[in-house]
Amino acid sequence: MDRYTPAQIEEKWQKAWIEQGLHQTSNDLSKPKFYALSMFPYPSGNLHMGHVRVYTIADVIARVRRMQGFRVLNPMGWDAFGLPAENAAIERNTQPAEWTYQNIAQMRLQLDQLGISFDWDREVATCSPDYYRWTQWIFLEFFKAGLAYQKEATVNWDPIDQTVLANEQVDSAGKSWRSGAVVERKLLRQWFFKITDYAEQLLTDLDTLTGWPEKVRLMQANWIGKSIGAQVTFTTEGGDQLVVFTTRPDTLWGATFMVLSPEHSLVEKLTVPEQAAAIATYQAAAAKKSDLDRMAEGQEKTGVWTGSYAINPVNGEQVPIWIADYVLVDYGTGAIMAVPAHDPRDFEFAKKFNLPIKVVVQPEDETLDSATMTAAHVGGGVIVNSGALNGIPAGKEAGQSVEAAVQWLEANGKGNGTNNYRLRDWLISRQRYWGAPIPIIHCPKCGAVPVPDADLPVKLPEDVAFSGRGASPLAQLESWINVPCPTCGTSAKRETDTMDTFIDSSWYFLRYPDAKNDQQAFDPAIANDWLPVDQYVGGIEHAILHLLYSRFFTKVLRDRGLLNFDEPFKRLLTQGMVQGKTYKNSQTGKYVLAVHIADLTNPVDPETGDALEVVYEKMSKSKHNGVAPGDVIDKYGADTARMFILFKAPPEKDLEWEDADVEGQFRFLNRVWRLVTEWKTGKETAGNSAPRTLHSALSKPEKELRRAIHIAIQAITEDLADEYQFNTAVSEMMKLSNALTDAPCKESPVYAEGIETLTKLLAPFAPHMAEELWHHLGHVESVHTQPWLVVDESALIADEITLVIQVLGKTKGTIQVPAQATKEELEQYARDSDLAKRYLDGKEIKKVIVVPGKLVNFVVV
Ligand SMILES: [Zn+2]
Repeated sequence: MDRYTPAQIEEKWQKAWIEQGLHQTSNDLSKPKFYALSMFPYPSGNLHMGHVRVYTIADVIARVRRMQGFRVLNPMGWDAFGLPAENAAIERNTQPAEWTYQNIAQMRLQLDQLGISFDWDREVATCSPDYYRWTQWIFLEFFKAGLAYQKEATVNWDPIDQTVLANEQVDSAGKSWRSGAVVERKLLRQWFFKITDYAEQLLTDLDTLTGWPEKVRLMQANWIGKSIGAQVTFTTEGGDQLVVFTTRPDTLWGATFMVLSPEHSLVEKLTVPEQAAAIATYQAAAAKKSDLDRMAEGQEKTGVWTGSYAINPVNGEQVPIWIADYVLVDYGTGAIMAVPAHDPRDFEFAKKFNLPIKVVVQPEDETLDSATMTAAHVGGGVIVNSGALNGIPAGKEAGQSVEAAVQWLEANGKGNGTNNYRLRDWLISRQRYWGAPIPIIHCPKCGAVPVPDADLPVKLPEDVAFSGRGASPLAQLESWINVPCPTCGTSAKRETDTMDTFIDSSWYFLRYPDAKNDQQAFDPAIANDWLPVDQYVGGIEHAILHLLYSRFFTKVLRDRGLLNFDEPFKRLLTQGMVQGKTYKNSQTGKYVLAVHIADLTNPVDPETGDALEVVYEKMSKSKHNGVAPGDVIDKYGADTARMFILFKAPPEKDLEWEDADVEGQFRFLNRVWRLVTEWKTGKETAGNSAPRTLHSALSKPEKELRRAIHIAIQAITEDLADEYQFNTAVSEMMKLSNALTDAPCKESPVYAEGIETLTKLLAPFAPHMAEELWHHLGHVESVHTQPWLVVDESALIADEITLVIQVLGKTKGTIQVPAQATKEELEQYARDSDLAKRYLDGKEIKKVIVVPGKLVNFVVV
């Protein structure tokens, strides 16, 4: 047979598999189900190495589970709404839909070239009306459950183009990507999902996700950010109530002023006339800052006094009310009590504006004096200056003193214990075109009215003009906006906001099992059969939002009676990055293209002559360190690309792209190719020898080879169980191929078993080559429909083991002994060995230590 030429076999098998429907999901309900899911991509038009890695990992899992007898669902789709399509429409004068579908076609082709076994019959694209119809239906389920509501929220506003900008359209200097204008913050009435109603469930159910990386569970817990504390009400001189949440109610007696966010609804009312101008100026400046800037550490504290006071409810003292931008309006209650003696930010603020500082936690090893303190004391100690709480030990975190404070507040009607979450409600409105329209009609009489089911989907109008200026294209389209109210018939207006694309991806995994259903988003019985997903694979960048939103959707749909499980993803694998070799000039910070470097072993910047630093960084255009998947496939074939990615690093670790290692995998595949084809040719030449079965008495080399075969099966099967170790699985295949190369029994049926085993083991990893070799060996059916290999435990037993011979603990050599030898027999083998004769000659043996299976140590004098 010819030499290994991937180009000749890969496309051929890809076509054959499609014709045979090999990747279609089995409906055989007698088999256990396995749902393998990889995070669907944004259709940018080009597959990069990160994609290759995630889809290859999921594909190996899907292929192994199919061979192991599961009915496997391994679907793929497109997270196809979003900003880039709209930007492309502006820049290239095209329609977002056209640009998106072109990209999808291109990426599908690239995925097929990799030999990924996706069931394309279940493909979904979130921008397709037959998908977003159900996204809209789900929105209305949330609306009916009281989980979708409107309120005012801030947006990024470009004052030149008069348009709302997404965060991605604002550069690091806070300027618009298009006009260059300094971006302002503007209040707009927008839609929210009430995810905070599920905060506690989303937090506690993390404990059930034992198949998730600990790191991801922790990130979610931190994002939800539960803190235990108390709500306390301060009353202003005018009788208004200011509610604050604090995790340290035990320091309430040390609160000497209050701070409101500049956007707090009571600021205007509390501001005295003499302070009005200063307050207004400060509010305008704060409106231009992002939340991130406002919260940044190390910034000098700024703020303005409103001129008003409130009463501290625990001690009746008057405290001044300030505004400052380090308090955010939508965090907590938008108001805080300031305890400068024990909070670093409050301390800085008090020092800057000469506000009183009062110590209420006295550390045991020193005596704090508010007049001479140079920093807040955040550590423990004993409560002082706090009435009934005096003398109670105080910790750094919630402890005895916090509990005592909550009890006191509740007993005296001054406040109550409560939990606070960092998690905010989810702002889902986008003032953009390329998203699922929110299916609501605003009627002057009835208010917000859902679009009736029969009128779904609310389709995106086509042939829209994109300028990037003014209101969103939808809000400019009168013919689309003006509709009669579905309830009363009065002239009404469509909602012109579209949904955050994170909504599209919060339920796509529910659609795949029933992707063609035109009556329902999904048939609950089918969803309950296939879900939860058995193995989810995707990037750590989605560790928080996407996973949290998907979990939230699952819980809401469960509560609507549509699902019978609590969590959507049983196991999660977050694959590491693919990093490219990067040549960096550490003097200038510039990246240099490898082809511009004269001597790669001693790289020097061709422009400056500086020595270049060689580092591995995430592949990107700007760093000139990317490798195009297509180039690798052209040169080595998809199977080599897959093998390299699987072998180079454990799946969750970062992977450094090395051409030499790609070459190494290509050589390995070539070796397997020759091993199988040359053996087959030899067998044909020799003709049929006397038939022998595996059960005949085996020679020593046959037994050893058979042992190597079954060790490989055992190890690789384990590597492909729950904790995927593809790299060690490939190593095991290499060991087996070496054992076959060295075995002196090529005519034996054991050798034939070895050749077939290696081909099957290779099938999930290098599917094209395995298929070609399998057919070459004379099989008619696909290797991918063969049952997975079963370990013959009896083959694992070694006939002989290697015994180490030591004298006084020093190793002198090894001998081969029967594996079943008893302790006494081992000692005898050791005594009789040539080694013993040589090293013990003339010495007196005082003691013999035998470690069965390992060594015999002679203690001599
Ligand atoms: Zn109406």
